Amino acid sequence: FCASGRMSAIDNLPPLREVIAAHGLSARKSLGQNFLLDLNLTARIARVAGDLTGADVLEVGPGPGGLTRGLLAEGARRVVAVEKDARCLPALAEIAAAYPGRLEVLNADALEVDWAAHLTPPVKVVANLPYNVGTELLVRWLTPPAWPPLWTSLTLMFQREVAERIVAQPGSKAYGRLAILSQWRTEAKIALSLPPEAFTPPPKVRSAVVHLTALPAPRFPADPDVLSRVVAAAFNQRRKMLRASLKGVAPDIEERLRAAGIKPTDRAEQVPLEGFCALAREVAKG
Ligand code: SAM
Repeated sequence: FCASGRMSAIDNLPPLREVIAAHGLSARKSLGQNFLLDLNLTARIARVAGDLTGADVLEVGPGPGGLTRGLLAEGARRVVAVEKDARCLPALAEIAAAYPGRLEVLNADALEVDWAAHLTPPVKVVANLPYNVGTELLVRWLTPPAWPPLWTSLTLMFQREVAERIVAQPGSKAYGRLAILSQWRTEAKIALSLPPEAFTPPPKVRSAVVHLTALPAPRFPADPDVLSRVVAAAFNQRRKMLRASLKGVAPDIEERLRAAGIKPTDRAEQVPLEGFCALAREVAKG
């Protein structure tokens, strides 16, 4: 309840604009800082991750804590937040004080920290990160040795174009390695689309929140390393026919393509996930 009589404050902490002013958190481009200041929006993003009440949440890049506050207000059992920028720590400490025992902040680089030691399953990952870091983490989270995963779902902000590559279907320009890697092991969908003005400062492009739920097992059997090698070779020369782009993968690649039910004259873009898995199995036969 706030002075205007509207239900608005999700906690008794100051509005994010005041937090940012009080702690001098001017956004740094080098850290990809585009902050979400609307707590109704951050609560909506938190709800994309589903019921949080029985889960630990790993939040990557909390910044001034808008999304962190959304996650805690939505009932997360605990939030472990990894933030590289030490300037954000006092603002995050205020949130920790408002939610005793429920927020742990690690001042670290998300690409280096061993966060598993701080979390108890079930774990949901939620992040509004710089896009390059987000893609790098997504690939790591979907690849051994991080697989099978500690997390049950990933709720990640990306630029819209990257989000479309994650959920892309065969036959589209966006279809490639990221789609195959993501869809092989998860159920991936775009949950929200956000205009640049949702952020302060606004980025140049639209953003989207992608929700990925870990499947109990990959959709089709395949050796992860072989699959990754085949898919990389196929899409590195995506306009070539597969019999040409995959020449280096196996000397008798045409036969193996046929055995996997793929036409050697097809291009990578036309082959569904199931086809790439079948091909990886053929190639793995040695
Ligand atoms: N989650 C906040 C929000 O939604 O308002 C901040 C989002 S801002 C796009 C990205 C945040 O990630 C910044 O606070 C930045 O300092 C942090 N960050 C950037 N690179 C990081 C890294 N490698 N590890 C941890 N945090 C990082």
